[in-house]
Amino acid sequence: MILLKTAEEVEKLRASNLLVSKTLGELAKRIAPGITTESLDKLAEEYLRDHGGVPGFLGYNGFPATLCTSLNDEVVHGIPSDNELKDGDIISIDCGVKLNGYFGDSAYTFAIGEPDPDWKALMENTKQSLFLGIEKSRKGFRLGDVGHAIQSHAEKAGYSVVREMVGHGLGQNLHEEPEVANFGRRGSGVKIKAGMVFCIEPMINKGSRYIQQDKDGWTIRTKDGEPSAHYELAVAVTNGEPDILSTFKYIEEVLN
Ligand code: MG
Ligand code: MG
Repeated sequence: MILLKTAEEVEKLRASNLLVSKTLGELAKRIAPGITTESLDKLAEEYLRDHGGVPGFLGYNGFPATLCTSLNDEVVHGIPSDNELKDGDIISIDCGVKLNGYFGDSAYTFAIGEPDPDWKALMENTKQSLFLGIEKSRKGFRLGDVGHAIQSHAEKAGYSVVREMVGHGLGQNLHEEPEVANFGRRGSGVKIKAGMVFCIEPMINKGSRYIQQDKDGWTIRTKDGEPSAHYELAVAVTNGEPDILSTFKYIEEVLN
């Protein structure tokens, strides 16, 4: 069942998504060659708790950390470790929080030093595809329109879309209906209504779309070893413009 949110609930979701956005902004200040993902995880947990939040992923289905840190060919659900980031890496950092009963969830792919220009192009295309999907998150459109916008942008550039992992409704649960696929046909799928809140999170691969899971039971990586990029924002559907509840502003203030 898709739970439509009241205006009051949307404001609670805005607060929790703002907190994850600010947390990612704090991480942006630290991300550099030589930093471990474990240290980023500790920083994120402290920041969330200092601001009244509870890490949203820690313990979720047994996940062992506050952040998902997915390096290079890792797509999503990478586990923080004591390995150091290296110049030329790219890393998706996904952060979730529960604040006053409502979840926030956002992800951004960061460049460490100077990655290969082809990898940076993949990152840029993936971020663009997210905003094209948000643009279709309007009353009267369908989720197939969102997926189609993302898929066609990625595939036009020669990239491929991960199919098995999708975006999701967001509310008092981290993952609610509907599923928000990053591929689809125009005019197909669930009809979008005012009051829906969902996360759009394209996972775009430089090579083929196929993925595999590591023995750790979490880390998803590309089968062909090519890199993958991942960006995520939460959007509330209104009677007018899409209302984006999370933001990359705090990250990009640091990076630019
Ligand atoms: Mg996420
Ligand atoms: Mg998500």
